[in-house]
Amino acid sequence: MSRTPLLILGGGTTAEDRARLEAAHASVFAKDFDELAAMDAETRAQVRAVAYRGHYRFDGTGMDLLPNLEVIANFGVGYDQIVVADATARGVKVTNTPDVLNDDVADLAVAMLLAQCRNMVEGDARVRRGEWPQKGELPLNRKMSGNKAGIVGLGRIGREIADRLAAFKMEIHYTSRSEKETPGWTYHGNDVVSLASAVDFLVVAIVGGPETVNTVSREAIDALGPRGVIVNISRGTTIDEDAMLDALEQGRIAGAGLDVFVGEPKVNPRFFALDQVHLQPHQGSGTVETRRAMAMLQLENVTACLEGKPLKTPVN
Ligand code: NAP
Repeated sequence: MSRTPLLILGGGTTAEDRARLEAAHASVFAKDFDELAAMDAETRAQVRAVAYRGHYRFDGTGMDLLPNLEVIANFGVGYDQIVVADATARGVKVTNTPDVLNDDVADLAVAMLLAQCRNMVEGDARVRRGEWPQKGELPLNRKMSGNKAGIVGLGRIGREIADRLAAFKMEIHYTSRSEKETPGWTYHGNDVVSLASAVDFLVVAIVGGPETVNTVSREAIDALGPRGVIVNISRGTTIDEDAMLDALEQGRIAGAGLDVFVGEPKVNPRFFALDQVHLQPHQGSGTVETRRAMAMLQLENVTACLEGKPLKTPVN
């Protein structure tokens, strides 16, 4: 029986979540892989489970620091930073935290689309700065309800977004690797260009990782056209960001609402000069309720592993 079977890895772990993990299992903590590598070999050899929270790559090199590792329990549904093939090759299981965050991420996608169409940030600023009496009403903005929406990736979160946008009287189109059962929504196979040319709003909800880089290509962005708005809550890498910036700067699309960026938390400063984009700091799942549910699911996976029970939400 190892004395400290759990490694809490990642400086982003909150004090509350760390205390809950430590109360459940004898633990060691490392802020990052440098701290992990500096740990003595005997301590590292005791670790059977990692509670991981980070957006930096976790590959075989990191895994090899932990010779008795059984599970990496990721905090978050997106595990594109964990090289699952490396884990599988070492007999290590990976888990994530699906479903519990769907509502919040979908809510944020809709909120960004509303904020973008209705120019809400500028409206708030006008009232707050006391400029309303001199400047008067905002320039008329854009109706959101009743447009056509295209969901790139009708997975768990994409589905929640589509359900919400359907309630806004929108016609729903989507891409996915397989056709889904829907209330008559239009399936475009995996053809994002076809999807973009059919809709006003393109909402991106596919997984990140090497297989989906630039799924929303320059061609797809052009196909969306000058009335088109892009919303991205997936990963920055799923859109050709340079092509999107070119199109925004040249007015070839109308706007964007973005929660995720290439190279975040650094954001390409070209975005800051654009009025018609709404920017958020990757806060899709960032409510008290959902972050607690994610932490509980991560802990359940760790506990299941350490007690030899089936994992709650395995990835591999
Ligand atoms: P999901 O249910 O697995 O759905 C993902 C979608 O991506 C599905 O439509 C799936 O296609 C598609 N897909 C998966 N692998 C693909 C591939 N290799 N090539 C093309 N399409 C592929 O995932 P989810 O729970 O909805 O989460 C989606 C993503 O949202 C996460 O991976 C994460 O990156 C992101 N996310 C962001 C935040 C935030 O804070 N902004 C929070 C949570 C999640 P099929 O339908 O054909 O399987």
